Amino acid sequence: MKVLKFGGTSMGDAQTWKRVIEIIKTYDAPFVVVSATARTTRALVKAAHKAIDNPQEANDIAHDIATRHNNIVEDFLTEYDDSSQTLEACYSWIDIHIKELKQHLTTIHNQQELTEQLKDVIASIGERLSSYLFTECGYAAGLFTTWLDATKIIRTDSNFGKASPNVDFIFNKITTLQQKISTGNIPVMGGYYGMDANENITTLGFEGSDYSASLIGAALNADAIEIWTDVSGVYTCDPRFVENAQPIPQLSFQEATELAYFGAKVLHPSTTKPASKQGIPIHVKNIFDPKAPGTCISSESTNNQLVKAITYKEHGTIITVTSSQTVMGYEFLADVFDVLRWHQLPVDVVTTTEASVSIAIENGDQIDKAITQLQAHGIVTQRPEQGIISLVGCQNSDRKLIGDILREINDIPLNMISYSKSKGNLNIVVDTKDTLPSVKKIHKKLFS
Ligand code: ADP
Ligand code: MG
Repeated sequence: MKVLKFGGTSMGDAQTWKRVIEIIKTYDAPFVVVSATARTTRALVKAAHKAIDNPQEANDIAHDIATRHNNIVEDFLTEYDDSSQTLEACYSWIDIHIKELKQHLTTIHNQQELTEQLKDVIASIGERLSSYLFTECGYAAGLFTTWLDATKIIRTDSNFGKASPNVDFIFNKITTLQQKISTGNIPVMGGYYGMDANENITTLGFEGSDYSASLIGAALNADAIEIWTDVSGVYTCDPRFVENAQPIPQLSFQEATELAYFGAKVLHPSTTKPASKQGIPIHVKNIFDPKAPGTCISSESTNNQLVKAITYKEHGTIITVTSSQTVMGYEFLADVFDVLRWHQLPVDVVTTTEASVSIAIENGDQIDKAITQLQAHGIVTQRPEQGIISLVGCQNSDRKLIGDILREINDIPLNMISYSKSKGNLNIVVDTKDTLPSVKKIHKKLFS
């Protein structure tokens, strides 16, 4: 059996829902994981933040979310006779969840605080809506879809906003669900959210539905996990912004993980973890072009290309800490990285000198707090608006290639650079404004 995951763009409107249903029909007993409808999670999080000082705007957002979902199910169900009961069930589901949302928004306003725990409850409403509504619509369209509540399956720790799954629990749970799954039903589960041992809703991090699908695929020992999206696989660069980006037919798990970690939005960075452990291939496919081969991510690595792909993140920060001691000891470095660990700040690029260390990281809520703590270990300076460009899969690269790449952007000031031949990775940090132009030049040089 295969696990099929459909992202926000696939869940965008009634037309894409129909496309998705046609795709599901071509599979024998798949397990389906869906994201929230396009832009809903962002809207929910925005409403939660706005609720503190602008309850009216927060309420308007809740109203928009309700209207959008009502419209999707109405549009979807018009072509099916006898769908009035299904429509009523959908309206009622939307109503319950929008009421719940509005209650949370009132709580936030009254308490003048948005906790990480409540943010997760609110963020999960997108998938709680889409998964149930899609199940109802799928059933009306002739599929034996059956809704599975992710809170009953995806057990996590209590690290709200970026929870880690309890893999043993999930594997056991799936075993008990096998019967329900194998009787010809098509289970549909919302991705991205789960529940901790204290019955609090948690989320697996932004774009976490990919991760949910991979966890389910591993628990079911699936033949493959298919990530269906709006582009034909993982490309040599973001196809939305870089002309001539090409789909990559084959990637190793490690290359795909690096690509995702360094900014290729098409996959959540943890997606490959559960799948690679059991050698389950991940296919990335396009709902608008289902026949296109897409990308196969597996244990195999093909080494026929100098560089596999270029990714970038546009809004990072370089933090430099200069030790007040004249000789930099290992303790200084350990102290600096301890602060980053404490704030769960993943490092993208590092360079060191005798008495200082520079670190490029993605922007996040924790940076200011980390900087305050780093000041205990030396003089801290920051350089905001940094673009982190990564070339992944340069195992076969020679010095000439790196020279060629740097020559392409010799008119652009480089703020940091790191290269490891053994890791096959080159990272370059430039100002945000120079990022996309640099990426385009390098991509043209390497892939045209
Ligand atoms: P979904 O809603 O299906 O999860 P996402 O928006 O999360 O879709 O991911 C798909 C998008 O990722 C594409 O539309 C594309 O613009 C972007 N993207 C960024 N980098 C890459 C890449 N290297 N290859 C493919 N897509 C990429
Ligand atoms: Mg995605």
